[in-house]
Amino acid sequence: MLTKAQITDWVEQIGEKKYRAGQIYEWLWQKSAHSFEEMSNLSKSLRELMEKTFVILPITIDKVQKSVDGTIKTRFKLHDGHLIESVLIPVPRDNRYTVCVSTQVGCSLTCKFCATGKMKRVRNLEAAEIYDQVVLVNRQAEEIFDHPLTNIVYMGMGEPLLAYKSVLKSVEHITSPEGLHMSPKRITVSTAGIAKAILRLAEDEVKFNLALSLHAADDDKRNEIMPINESNNLEVLMKAIKEFYRTTKNRISFEYILLQGVNDDIEDAKKLAKLCAHFPVRVNIIEYNPIEDGVFIKTAIAKMDAFANYLIDQGIVVTVRRSRGKDIDAACGQLANKDN
Ligand code: SF4
Repeated sequence: MLTKAQITDWVEQIGEKKYRAGQIYEWLWQKSAHSFEEMSNLSKSLRELMEKTFVILPITIDKVQKSVDGTIKTRFKLHDGHLIESVLIPVPRDNRYTVCVSTQVGCSLTCKFCATGKMKRVRNLEAAEIYDQVVLVNRQAEEIFDHPLTNIVYMGMGEPLLAYKSVLKSVEHITSPEGLHMSPKRITVSTAGIAKAILRLAEDEVKFNLALSLHAADDDKRNEIMPINESNNLEVLMKAIKEFYRTTKNRISFEYILLQGVNDDIEDAKKLAKLCAHFPVRVNIIEYNPIEDGVFIKTAIAKMDAFANYLIDQGIVVTVRRSRGKDIDAACGQLANKDN
């Protein structure tokens, strides 16, 4: 992947005017051109030379599923044939149009409730492949809802902090004036909890928000459903996030999927409330979207409300998210895992 400085160097080396670099960059990063042929404001000879020198590895839309609730899931095919997915979640009453992007093909972590966790990790996505998901879904949002994306969450297939460089580089392009020029405050990167990488984010003084996929508030339960907890326990994670907050002051949230009989008792809520005392944090309680193995069942609405209300009574900021796209394969990894 070429930076603007590298493109500028190349353009100068071949004796072209410097402003050509800006045009090429715009074609690649704002218009997401799939071929050099499309770059109509460049001369034919320059396009031909680029064709011989570089290669564009575009992602293409492979399948789109639309839910009755407006959620749109898109499966993308990568240049090497692998499949990934992004989800567009529109909430018109709040003027909120969020895309959830993937960062890896498959995933090496094996969270028990996740369809992607059942696929092996194949490779990390390139920054450009993450960026292209955002550009293409942004187009979808504009075409279908007449509104651009307002928020980006890195919560799709894969563990973003294991694709660290690609994630940071893609954020750089999304926020750059020559890219999509979105505010980093509108971007949330989620992690299943890799303490070292969270500390690295703090060191790198990133400007985006951080979400921890918590899903259980004690080590025994978390080890059970998220094996990554065995090497990154809650104490270590809380320390790392505390440091992240101390350095960046960026917004932190805990994601908590309620699973019936697993993590949905008031006792669990009490433990969760204690974890919230370490730093300012909001909690997103999420209704489970079952995957095909049928191991976990979603918590009933009344119990979800009781769980959320307990936290609210403790003064914690809580959002309850009903699951979206129930009539499509909207749980992470479900669509990419399908044969057709
Ligand atoms: S929840 Fe995220 S980190 Fe866990 S297995 Fe699924 S994709 Fe990987």
